[in-house]
Amino acid sequence: MTDSRTDNSTDNSTEHAAASGPRVAVIGGGISGLFAAWELRRRLGPGARILVLEAYGRLGGKLKTVDFSTGPLDMGAEAFLTRHTGMAQLVADLGLEDELRVPSGARSAFLVDGVLVDIPSATVMGIPARGADVAGVLSAGAQASVDGERGRAALPWVVGDDVNVGELVRRRYGDEVVDRLVSPMLGGVYSCGADDLGLRATVPQIAAAMDDLAARGEDVHLSTAVADVLASRTSGSGRAPGPVFNSLASGYRTLVNRLAEASGADIHVNTQVEEIGRYNGRIYLEPVGTVDAVVVATPAPTASVLLEDMIPDAADILGGVDLASSAVVGMHYAGDVDLPERSGILIGADGPTRAKAFTFSSRKWPHLSGPDGEKGGFVRASFGTFRDGSLLDADDQTLVDYAVEDLARVAGVSGRPTETFVQRWWGGLPVYGVGHTELMGLAEAAVADVPRIAVAGAYLRGVGVPACADAGRAAARKIADEL
Ligand SMILES: Cc1cc2nc3c(=O)[nH]c(=O)nc-3n(C[C@H](O)[C@H](O)[C@H](O)COP(=O)(O)OP(=O)(O)OC[C@H]3O[C@@H](n4cnc5c(N)ncnc54)[C@H](O)[C@@H]3O)c2cc1C
Repeated sequence: MTDSRTDNSTDNSTEHAAASGPRVAVIGGGISGLFAAWELRRRLGPGARILVLEAYGRLGGKLKTVDFSTGPLDMGAEAFLTRHTGMAQLVADLGLEDELRVPSGARSAFLVDGVLVDIPSATVMGIPARGADVAGVLSAGAQASVDGERGRAALPWVVGDDVNVGELVRRRYGDEVVDRLVSPMLGGVYSCGADDLGLRATVPQIAAAMDDLAARGEDVHLSTAVADVLASRTSGSGRAPGPVFNSLASGYRTLVNRLAEASGADIHVNTQVEEIGRYNGRIYLEPVGTVDAVVVATPAPTASVLLEDMIPDAADILGGVDLASSAVVGMHYAGDVDLPERSGILIGADGPTRAKAFTFSSRKWPHLSGPDGEKGGFVRASFGTFRDGSLLDADDQTLVDYAVEDLARVAGVSGRPTETFVQRWWGGLPVYGVGHTELMGLAEAAVADVPRIAVAGAYLRGVGVPACADAGRAAARKIADEL
């Protein structure tokens, strides 16, 4: 099997000789940085000299496509949200419309007392409004606790408040709702349980619904706020038609490579920027030299170090952002192995497995399935959470063994995969804790006051690829306006 690293590696360190415009550096060749570079090119035109400086030997950051002998499989992000994000249009603008793929519609499941149960649709990130909506997952007692919430004293809520998701739901509904529903759902996106995440940053619809209730002078109950969000979905005001997710036929590598190409940037891999300072009215990057402007598109802790001298207020805030690590084991099963007709399985912390989730990629995405009638295909197993990253220390073979054993236990899949790939994502995702949205607003405001420096990254506007695209493009617009 080939590591896609080779495909994404480009080191074109000879800058375009003909360029005569400003010299702008983008630090970080992940998706935020690449969208920034593309937008810089669109705004500054062909004369600008745009540099992408990437510490590792390949572009893409948390996007990585690996070639199995049966086809490409994404080992980091594998899809993107389409609703409200404009991401599909950006992909089309890059000439990749033909690459867009839609999911099969196969349902995902929770593992409840050893049994697979369809993930209930009438919740907001696993948080229900009524016990009956989650009857297959919760005990009768926990359902009654959800239904009794409206009879309890209202929440003391002031517009703009934030709260720990786990603490809120435990207090209002009880532990079972958090452990069986909310943590597995949030864990699938953030590699964190509900007890590590803030409501406003991770379930903003509920925070906004609670704001609305408070602003109208009504009692604020969690179940009322969730019911309001669900009602806005069914009335059509909260959801656009069409599939929720898209993916790319040949994997994220295609988008990474197209962005690098369309940006016309000089790509420098294996180039770690150590320091940013001022020199003769320009910006000095160690070890690259002077530039007219810079977009810092690294994870938050690195951005904090790089901005220490230039924008200490922002650096202080970004230095406080924690990171959650995880590992993904990609597996391909031969055509005679029966995989469940499901898109995935989410497993609570009290589940019997070491893996916290499985994605049946070939069931979820028809373009990843084999010839008609073939049963096997791709499976991704995910390990590790913010609170417990100990499994990442296990060697590759051990992680594969755990994945195979767990898959047999929860879905009855027998046999071993024919090919595997283990990817560890150290510090893979920023932790969106209580107050995160407000803090990032303050960091962005501090950066806004300093000309010719901008920031982008998964810690700013959301961890998803569309949010990173948004952050990258906004950073580029700031720079273009200032040059
Ligand atoms: C396992 C996993 C699954 C995911 N699944 C999805 C999904 O299905 N859908 C979705 O939308 N999102 C998903 N995400 C989230 C999404 O992939 C990431 O949030 C996003 O790719 C982050 O992009 P970024 O450019 O902000 O950061 P990164 O990808 O981290 O890129 C930052 C880059 O900066 C470089 N860098 C750091 N320091 C320096 C330095 N000093 N000098 C030069 N370069 C430096 C790094 O090497 C890196 O390449 C997933 C994330 C993970 C970890």
